[in-house]
Amino acid sequence: MTHRILILGGTTEARQLAGKLSARTDLAVTLSLAGRTENPVAQGVPTRVGGFGGGDGLATFLREARIDLLIDATHPYAAQISANAAEAAHETGVPIVALRRPGWLQTVGDRWTLVETVTDAVQVLGIAPRRAFLALGRQEVAAFEVAPQHHYLIRSVDPVDPKLAVPNATTYLLARGPFREADERALLESHGIDVVVSKNSGGEATYAKIAAARALGIEVVMIRRPVLPNVASAETVESLAAMVDHFLKPAAERGV
Ligand code: NAP
Repeated sequence: MTHRILILGGTTEARQLAGKLSARTDLAVTLSLAGRTENPVAQGVPTRVGGFGGGDGLATFLREARIDLLIDATHPYAAQISANAAEAAHETGVPIVALRRPGWLQTVGDRWTLVETVTDAVQVLGIAPRRAFLALGRQEVAAFEVAPQHHYLIRSVDPVDPKLAVPNATTYLLARGPFREADERALLESHGIDVVVSKNSGGEATYAKIAAARALGIEVVMIRRPVLPNVASAETVESLAAMVDHFLKPAAERGV
């Protein structure tokens, strides 16, 4: 019997998990992407693209596609789709399990200023002009227009369009991780950066900027993670893959 699995993705781990599970002949895996990135990395498994239309839309999809297991492997800051996933699983009775990458922890030498939101991050930059590296998504950087006195170095996967309406020189870089610490150090030094604004994404691919900031004694304005729904979860691709069979058992056998 083939079990159908829907993986909500948009992360490296989702792609890795989809690849791992689709190697099993008893599983039919579909990966779902929001469609934000213009040229997404090839996923190597059957993929659908675009929103479902909220929690209800996702519930309808789960029923119509006769999904047996929903895996939320979205980014830790993608709080809306995670909430929708928990809601749709509850509504349909489809089991859900989440892949939740642990956040980075502060270590000796880190100079983190913790804030709740991107708007708060703009505020803590203060009044005096600074040279800030914004390692944020292109949707989030618009919030910095209210602080045009700073110089911004903005790195994103897709171009920021429209560009920020700030008079000072703003530099745009297009790049996709993983990044190396030596390169991040060189980047921060060559642009004279004195503050890095970052999400606490966790994982290895984008940690190098945090390590580089620590090595150079540069402040990091760290935007805290949003609160996510409380569903069964694993921290790694391997541990989640090992849980799949348990969640595919009929509810009575899972002790539900
Ligand atoms: P979000 O605010 O949580 O979701 C907004 C809407 O986008 C959702 O309500 C849903 O639309 C649609 N959506 C999100 N993920 C989807 C998926 N995997 N498949 C189908 N529809 C999806 O999400 P976001 O922060 O904009 O992130 C969008 C995507 O980029 C996510 O898949 C996430 O994994 C990835 N990503 C996000 C970040 C980040 O920092 N936020 C970083 C790296 C990658 P409907 O309500 O219409 O279903």
